[in-house]
Amino acid sequence: MQITVFLGAPGSGKGTQAKKLSQKKTFIHLSTGDMLRAAIKNNTSLGQKAKAFMDKGELVPDDLVIQLIKETLSQLSSNQHILLDGFPRTVAQAEALNANPTTQVQRAILFEIPDNLLVERLTGRRVCTQCGHPFHIKHMPPKSEGMCDACGGQIVQRSDDTENVVKKRLDVFHSQNKGLVDFYSKKNALHKLDANLPADQVEGLLIGILQ
Ligand code: AMP
Repeated sequence: MQITVFLGAPGSGKGTQAKKLSQKKTFIHLSTGDMLRAAIKNNTSLGQKAKAFMDKGELVPDDLVIQLIKETLSQLSSNQHILLDGFPRTVAQAEALNANPTTQVQRAILFEIPDNLLVERLTGRRVCTQCGHPFHIKHMPPKSEGMCDACGGQIVQRSDDTENVVKKRLDVFHSQNKGLVDFYSKKNALHKLDANLPADQVEGLLIGILQ
């Protein structure tokens, strides 16, 4: 199994790029945020435990997300290339992946972007409730209001994309990110990219790193 982790602030484009790459079939995109939102929607016991943390913009406790990702990875076949989006978010999570010989991370890609651009990106972000396709009210509006161009589903704002929660999520990101950057730098696995470039240029850079 090959594992690439995408590091970067919420709104830096990790999910958008991982989705695009996985549509090209060579990669499996795993987003712990998407998995947790699905757990909340299905009212599972994990969803019930995670909801209060997510609503406040805080991290869900390590033991819950580590178990979630371990279970998910154990169900995938060994010849797949996984793009982990939103995991690890703490050094304890990175260490948990690293502790298992079958889930070693080959590379970590840091999406770099200034904070002041992120608030605007996140508060204007909208997503399709059915297929998860991302939109932005200003930069990437849907062709008809409220309706997904890709599947016709309903487009909504994530409950944690409101300004107060976004600020909290950015604080949480900054408090954890340096530890993760150091962790993967020491393993000579860290690559940085300018996530403020146009999306197709970011995709090109990513493909270069992943080859
Ligand atoms: P995301 O969709 O990646 O922005 O994640 C949304 C929310 O899910 C985060 O603000 C956290 O509350 C929670 N979450 C997602 N991934 C993790 C993780 N690896 N560790 C802890 N909490 C997470």
